[in-house]
Amino acid sequence: MRRFVPFSLLLAVAARPGWASTVETISIGLWDVARAPARVRVSGASTPGAGTARVWTVTASGGRLHVEPGGRAVSRVTLRGSPQMIIAGNGSHVAAPGELVLSARDGRLKGILKLPLEEYVARVVAREMPSDWPADALAAQAVVARSFALASRGRHARDGFDVCSLTHCQLWSPSPPTTRARQAARRTEGWILTSGGQTLRAPFCSTCGGYTADGASSGLPATCVPVRDGPPGREFCRASPHFRWQARLSPQELGRTAGLAEGQTAEIKILSRDSGGRVARARLAATEEDGGALLMRFGRALGWARVKSCLFTLRKDGPVTVLDGRGLGHGAGLCQWGARGRALQAQDWKGILRAYFPKAELVRR
Ligand SMILES: [Zn+2]
Ligand SMILES: [Zn+2]
Repeated sequence: MRRFVPFSLLLAVAARPGWASTVETISIGLWDVARAPARVRVSGASTPGAGTARVWTVTASGGRLHVEPGGRAVSRVTLRGSPQMIIAGNGSHVAAPGELVLSARDGRLKGILKLPLEEYVARVVAREMPSDWPADALAAQAVVARSFALASRGRHARDGFDVCSLTHCQLWSPSPPTTRARQAARRTEGWILTSGGQTLRAPFCSTCGGYTADGASSGLPATCVPVRDGPPGREFCRASPHFRWQARLSPQELGRTAGLAEGQTAEIKILSRDSGGRVARARLAATEEDGGALLMRFGRALGWARVKSCLFTLRKDGPVTVLDGRGLGHGAGLCQWGARGRALQAQDWKGILRAYFPKAELVRR
């Protein structure tokens, strides 16, 4: 077991000023730094007590960081006023304006990056939607990303940051966002979705398959209600490669999904569907659960490319259970492929958001 995680830190002190302290920020947990034997290169950063050293080696030991040269043992290293930071190690590479705090826990490095909110929004857009998609689809994604981020503030407060960099919260681009993603954030700056006066933790999915999901039955905000994504045969997300899919599952695969011993078989029964036809509750072997939990269960047992959503019908083909499905993901909130389709038909970002969030309000903070 690796107890020490060494990395060197190249420091170039620059006179360029950092972002103003009045800028609204959000903090992201960078767990990859914690896991990786990382080499960190910092440009344009300053840190107290840096002296004239340009290259540092920092080692995590227990709850302390050992900094060389200097032989100092510190509890944290803070790098701020930095227009750019590059962390390279195990493929992890972060170049972002902001403040990076490194600390150690149980001999592992932990990084928390605090960066301007709008920079974060642009980076979520860049990571979650192809930048060559229509500008109004990107703008709709920016509002969803901003709403989600603000509603998630403190979600990881126990670990000292707001949002994680995994799908649990939102993926983000650790490298500078594309110009078009940045434009989407700038164009919609300050705009969010709210519900009952609260910022909405607005969800999104790749492809709804023609009908968005009921949030309440998939563990997502109840403000998200089933919405028909265009008339039958002309659905806005029809161009998605995931619009239609089929999964053929053996009784043994259903058994594995149910968590039974290898080789054991199981059957699935749909108990209820939401008004869009998505599975709301199902029973698999002896387990009864909601659609969201069922989808997670399929993904973990069979991989994420087999059963892509809960919008499916069931039929038998001999011993095989055939799922004829549509869409990819939980299906609630913004349908990304649908947003693309709508933007291509000249709907603007406000119209797109109102279509997918009819019970939410679109407001400027
Ligand atoms: Zn998270
Ligand atoms: Zn759709």
